[in-house]
This record gives sequence, C-alpha cells and structure tokens, in this order.
Amino acid sequence: MPLNFDKLLAAIARHAQTLTDAGAVADYIPALARVDPSQFGIAVAGLDGSLYCAGVAQRAFSIQSISKLFALTLALQREGDALWQRVGREPSGTPFNSLVLLERERGIPRNPFVNAGALVITDVLCQRYLQPERAVLEFIHRLLGRSTVAVDAEVARSERAHSDRNSAIAHFMRSFGNLRGQVGAVLDAYCAQCAIAMSCAELAQASLFLAGDGCQPRGARVLDPQATRRINALMLTCGAYDAAGDFAFRMGLPTKTGVGGGILAVVPGRMTICAWSPRLDATGNSIAAAAAIERFAAETGVSIFGGE
Ligand code: GLU
Repeated sequence: MPLNFDKLLAAIARHAQTLTDAGAVADYIPALARVDPSQFGIAVAGLDGSLYCAGVAQRAFSIQSISKLFALTLALQREGDALWQRVGREPSGTPFNSLVLLERERGIPRNPFVNAGALVITDVLCQRYLQPERAVLEFIHRLLGRSTVAVDAEVARSERAHSDRNSAIAHFMRSFGNLRGQVGAVLDAYCAQCAIAMSCAELAQASLFLAGDGCQPRGARVLDPQATRRINALMLTCGAYDAAGDFAFRMGLPTKTGVGGGILAVVPGRMTICAWSPRLDATGNSIAAAAAIERFAAETGVSIFGGE
C-alpha cells in the first residue's frame, strides 16, 4: 500500500475521539446500553496481508447487523441464486425492523439486510444446519483462520428476551409461506448471530473476501466473483439502514453497519476498513465511525467511483 496508514489512522482516531460525545448508544437491550460510549477503534486490512490499527481496534464489540453479511454469504454458498426468490434487492426506505412493506409484498423482504430479510436468511440456514448459529461462527473462524470469535451469551439472551418485533416479522412472513422452520428456532439463531462479538481488526480481516472478488488472501475461494460483487452492490444500496444513500455519497464505498456501533467498508480489489464507536445517530449508524471512514476515503482517494 502506498501511504503510511499508521500515521493517517492515528490522526483519524484522534479526530474521531472528539466526536464520541455526540449521539446515543443503542439501548433496546440493557446489555448494549452498558457499553463505554467513549471508545473508538479503526482497522484497515489489505489483500496483501497488511493490517493497520488505531484506537481500540483489537477490542471485541457486538457486531449486530454486520453479522447479516456473514449469514448471507453462507446462505449464498449453500443456495446460490435460488435465494433471491425469497429475498429482494431493493433499499426499503423504512427502518430496519419495519413490517409495513411485508404485507404489500406478500412476505418477501425488500433486501437481506433489513431484519425481515435476515430472518429469511437465518431460516435458510436453519434448514441446512442443526446448529445454524454455530455454522455462522465456524464460517467466521474459517475466514479468519483462527477460532478467536464467540457469541456474547448475555447479549444473545437479552436480544431473545426482547425479540417481540422480530418475532412478529417472522410470524408474518411464515403466514405467507416465506419462513419454513419454526419461528422460535429462527429467532434463537438470529439473536445469537447478532450477539457475535468481534474487534475491528477481526471484522476487517474476516471480510477481505469481499474486497478480493470472493477469495480470502492466501485462502480458498469463499464465493464466486459475481455473487461477491452483488453483495457489495447490496451493501452500497442497503447496508446502512436509511442512510445508505448518504453513506454512498459521503464514502463512495459499500458499507455494512450495526447498532453496536461498528461499520465495515469494502474497497474492492484493495482492502477492508472497519471502524467502531458505540454512539449512534438517528438512523442507527455510529457517528464517529462514519466520520472516520469518510475521512479515510477522502484522504486516500479510495472510492468505487474512481479516483486516486
Ligand atoms: N439485533 C438487532 C435487531 O434485530 C440488530 C440490529 C441491527 O444492528 O440492525 O433488532
């Protein structure tokens, strides 16, 4: 990589740290509301095997909706294009946990990154695996080449105890025949998957195949190039809740965000970037992490729309 990312990331972390007072930590479950909101970390992983970090980039946090990326990849590995008969590819323009479009669209979720879509993906995994949450975790371990990642059991329990809305979404889709398994089993697996804890460094390294046209560096093929490019397209259009358009405008990169405060961005052909800070804006995206990735993209010139 041409630039000295150590210096750049240190400067970005210093600035991002000044933004950690703004916004509010996700508080829909007590286990998330307790996190120290002043934390910031960033990691950049290159396809050449390099890793640059600043702030608390090695501290594990709740990846929440970023897990939807790994579950989708695993489901695509197993189902291929048949998956798209059950899940759409359009931005929803509604909050991630909304039910409103499901009735009009007969139980077919808008995209795999809203909760309805992720629940269908989890249903697919439930049909394929006896322990679907274990399958997602082991998939992440294979991507990383080490078994350092775990589900935070307290967050998983808390998610499950507060899953009324996801339960409603799942039952509603089941009434249209777009959920095949038992709702309880799907929710167990979905809540555990959301409660996986990973650091910025781990997330950036585990998702390098998204920058590598489907291959991890020095690793086996994860997904074919076309399916990988399509995931990146979905990240660009649907990966940041209702702010996907704004994120594409500000960063020019495919991203996936989670209410734990993590944001993962992909620079196809080059690298992945993961930033984390717990305080969120009104759309559910981390304020400091978004600002950090925006600045990284501006200073390095990386964008899927050209530059450098
Ligand atoms: N566990 C959260 C939910 O299903 C995921 C939220 C998110 O990161 O979007 O409500």
